[in-house]
Amino acid sequence: MLERADQFRGQQQAISLLNAYLAKRRLAGTLLIMGQRGLGKTTLATILARALVCEANRESPRLAFCGACYACRSIARGEQPEYVTLRPRSQDITVGQVEEEVGGFRSALLHPTLLSHRIFLIDDAHHLNETTSNQMLKLFEEAPEQTVFILVTDRPELLLPTILSRGQKVRLLAEPVERLAPVVAEDASVATETAVEAVRMAGGRYVDALALAGDDSWRGNVKRLAGALLAGRGIAHAAADLAALELAALWAKQLADAGLSEDEAEHKLAKPKTEADRGLKVRLNELKRQALLSAYDRASWWLLATAPPRPGFAEELWQLKQRISANVDPALAQAAFELGLS
Ligand SMILES: [Zn+2]
Repeated sequence: MLERADQFRGQQQAISLLNAYLAKRRLAGTLLIMGQRGLGKTTLATILARALVCEANRESPRLAFCGACYACRSIARGEQPEYVTLRPRSQDITVGQVEEEVGGFRSALLHPTLLSHRIFLIDDAHHLNETTSNQMLKLFEEAPEQTVFILVTDRPELLLPTILSRGQKVRLLAEPVERLAPVVAEDASVATETAVEAVRMAGGRYVDALALAGDDSWRGNVKRLAGALLAGRGIAHAAADLAALELAALWAKQLADAGLSEDEAEHKLAKPKTEADRGLKVRLNELKRQALLSAYDRASWWLLATAPPRPGFAEELWQLKQRISANVDPALAQAAFELGLS
């Protein structure tokens, strides 16, 4: 968790928009923070939620928090019942999960007594299943205006259309290399050249660029896959190597979010006892697919920025990504791609 709001880097447009909403007290009861993976949506959502309830902002609301008031301290300790965060434990966020973790959505109807607003922050909100979504939709109508739902998603098209149309939307966009590279160079303490390379491979995403800037072998693997794609051979191996690195990063984040150590996760995967344990396996498979997509994204961003790819390259890559998206099993997706090539 960030200690200060200004530790969040980039995304000036979204930040200005949120500051304006806050200053004019025009923030809606349902917010959708949208944008592709790796743009810092969840971090920004957290800053917004904390800014809303920080006692130092009562007079003049802004996108920052003091860190010292009761609201700030109780949230930082993870002990604030009126500040609820939910994220998928498995494929779906079910009514059962919401009941088990936060006692259901019933409290959304109550006026907050400890904070100025009651917050429900839902990460990867496109995993809300239909029943949970419908339950939440009813609350959008009935909850007092101090209840605020903040939904974070990189797949808004998978949300119920009624939820999508109801929410106030804040979009995060990939940033141009000239704006982001100096920030990454400073924050990762690397040469500008390295930062430029990392930002290109990250497609203008700060969090990814920061990770790539600090990892020579990761960047080397992106170049190797890009080279293989250009040459039209050795693609499967290069993709598998890069996807393994991507998966490690995604999995580490998943475990951190779930508060699990590597050993605990290993144990749960080997001997799943509960529904949640089995959910972890489903999640891992989903991450494998994302890792493969991510590997191809990086290689293509890199190629588009550095080497003019052959005609039709973008179309080929798009078809490849469609195949991966359509196959739940990443190994099958890769095999389907190779068959398509031959
Ligand atoms: Zn505060």
